[in-house]
Amino acid sequence: MKKQRNTRQRQLVLDVVLARGDHPTADQVYADARAIDEKISRGTVYRNLHTLAARGDILQVKLPDVDRYEELADRHYHIICTECGAVYDAPIPYDDTLDRRASEISGCDIKRHRTTFEGRCPECKQRCE
Ligand SMILES: [Zn+2]
Ligand SMILES: [Zn+2]
Repeated sequence: MKKQRNTRQRQLVLDVVLARGDHPTADQVYADARAIDEKISRGTVYRNLHTLAARGDILQVKLPDVDRYEELADRHYHIICTECGAVYDAPIPYDDTLDRRASEISGCDIKRHRTTFEGRCPECKQRCE
């Protein structure tokens, strides 16, 4: 019985992340999950996000402010709005030559790099003009 509930709650957390598609924070996932299942606890949501990310079912996006979660995708960069905090996928291809160059120069085995662009999103830009 307990196992069944765990599976159902993990699926709910996964569904929320996929349904949002806007790089939600753990708190945003919790709020949405709570609206569907009022018994789900914050700890359960956080734990399931970690499990899903560790299993490779979703991506954990490490950002300067707070970690976000998103659907599996190829490596890509992010843009974070410094006004409203919205996170977007940057429409720029991942540059793996950087990883190779960094490996050569440093002698380290570089696996990847993460880049976050910061600026104002179109909506905030419009509001400020
Ligand atoms: Zn914004
Ligand atoms: Zn993304």
